[in-house]
Amino acid sequence: MKSRQLLAAVHRPEDFPTLSDPVVAFAGRSNVGKSSLLNRLIGADAARVSKTPGRTHGIYLYRTQEGWIAADLPGFGFAKVSRGDRQAWATLASGFFETRTPALTAALIDPRIGPSDLDLDFRDYLRDLGLPSVSIATKADRLKAVERARATRALEKDFGPLLWISARTGEGIEELKKTIRRRVVDRKSR
Ligand code: GDP
Repeated sequence: MKSRQLLAAVHRPEDFPTLSDPVVAFAGRSNVGKSSLLNRLIGADAARVSKTPGRTHGIYLYRTQEGWIAADLPGFGFAKVSRGDRQAWATLASGFFETRTPALTAALIDPRIGPSDLDLDFRDYLRDLGLPSVSIATKADRLKAVERARATRALEKDFGPLLWISARTGEGIEELKKTIRRRVVDRKSR
């Protein structure tokens, strides 16, 4: 999929378009590997737009060919932004989660960093809203088997079953597509 399938770049909650297909949200700390994952999952240029300086704080909606829409949320936890920017992020993100109700949220976690407070807060936020999520450990190729086993034990305590993904090797990508199909697309037609 190319960036021309960008449906909308949303910078204010009131600008969300009405969508007929279910939305899958992708969120995580800055640098977690979200852009790389989206590129692998839905196509080459898709996630580059959100990295363009000055455009980082929007929510980018992409139509996929599989009957769902990807919402690329700005990474949270970046140290350099001002308080005003953080507030703008919170307003936009809460407007999205609380009124647009994504059918599924992919909560991306960096397994080498472990469960950060931001990741745990985000998990609690989704739980409080009753929003379904899938926990994803990114950059799987960077961990040796023994490190992965250790990280799995530690993270699954906090986040439940993890799906391991590598944007580099493609590991887990098909499984994520299947999960989305099963939990989002198939459900739509019931
Ligand atoms: P974002 O800020 O969450 O969008 O993160 P990016 O996708 O830009 O990735 C942050 C850094 O992690 C970049 O240097 C990527 O090359 C690297 N990265 C992302 N995914 C992977 C992966 O699956 N494997 C490895 N080894 N590196 C990755």
